[in-house]
Amino acid sequence: MYGKIKDHLTQELQSIREAGLYKNERLIVSPQDAVIRLASGQEVLNFCANNYLGLSNHPRLVQAAVEALQSHGYGMSSVRFICGTTDLHKKLERAIANFFGTEDTILYAACFDANGGIFEPLLSEEDAIISDALNHASIIDGVRLSKAKRFRYANADMKDLEEQLILAQDARFRVIVTDGVFSMDGNVAPMDEINRLAKKYDALIMVDECHSAGVVGKTGRGVTELFNIRGEVDIITGTLGKAFGGALGGFTTGRKEIIELLRQRSRPYLFSNSLPPAVVNAGIRMFEMMAETSELQEKLHHNTDWFIGKMKEAGFDIKPSRSAICAVMLYDARVSQEFASRLLEEGIYVTGFYYPVVPKGAARIRVQLSAAHEPEHLERALHAFVKVGKELGILTN
Ligand SMILES: *Cc1c(COP(=O)(O)O)cnc(C)c1O
Repeated sequence: MYGKIKDHLTQELQSIREAGLYKNERLIVSPQDAVIRLASGQEVLNFCANNYLGLSNHPRLVQAAVEALQSHGYGMSSVRFICGTTDLHKKLERAIANFFGTEDTILYAACFDANGGIFEPLLSEEDAIISDALNHASIIDGVRLSKAKRFRYANADMKDLEEQLILAQDARFRVIVTDGVFSMDGNVAPMDEINRLAKKYDALIMVDECHSAGVVGKTGRGVTELFNIRGEVDIITGTLGKAFGGALGGFTTGRKEIIELLRQRSRPYLFSNSLPPAVVNAGIRMFEMMAETSELQEKLHHNTDWFIGKMKEAGFDIKPSRSAICAVMLYDARVSQEFASRLLEEGIYVTGFYYPVVPKGAARIRVQLSAAHEPEHLERALHAFVKVGKELGILTN
């Protein structure tokens, strides 16, 4: 009998709408790129994709996917350990380990699953997880699924982390868990300090590199490159769904005994389907491209520095960032929405974020830069920001 819960859900949806929190999905009818076409026919410049390296529609990746469709077919119809492992899956796992300088890798359907399936097999009630307060939802869920004791420290606050490590000293094992880049501000985790504290207080380190892999560090190897601590982080999780081509797929890479145990015990790996060969082969091709050159990283870093520099010069309030994320602070939720919709009229597609996605009174527009952006794209975005900023009284000179 659907009757009673139907009324309840209708009310719930209504209250989401009334709170102004209802998420509408805008339809895109072109491939993901710097320029996209909306269902309305309008062509806009895209500044809100995780397409940091511009690979989402790269011809070499499309070609690799087509080749694998022909050589290995469409779907695997199996989890990895029954009959869902191809030569391609093993090759991609090796390529990821080579990229990060780690020992071994295990693939998942998504990083949400990698994070969901990491803690429960490794840790029990005798152990402790010490987690940054701004970590991604999938880490929070993964922590909930394990029996380990939970400690939380304020975002990137090393004094607080040290206090939590002291409180966790009687645990058998300790793991410090952090995002590499925090997606709403674009700041990076202070990995040098985290590494020092991990040594001092005998803790493992786990980093989620979803927004940092491919992006951060001179050659895009992520926060371990940025802080020169390659090989010192025990567990790295990441996604193929952002900089690395944008399709889907997640991974955990790190110490070989950890990866080996995950293959035996990690539930999202054991009980969910193997990635399709087309996606896996495009991943292999993508890591080949990463090994050939760092041109895309150079272009991305140049674009990011240029855009953030010009936005600050224009008088915008920008959060300190060391990633490809530029958070334009507007503080007021309504202003952030109005600003974003005016920008769309100007042909610039960005998203305004407000509570509960960011703290109350900290509404912003998040701009995501990409190696796909050409100088004229960046200039058009800058001009549109300045124009709308003046109209809305954000910029006063
Ligand atoms: C996007 C993201 C995820 C989820 O990755 P998927 O592969 O899309 O599931 C996990 N962690 C962080 C920090 C992310 O930004």
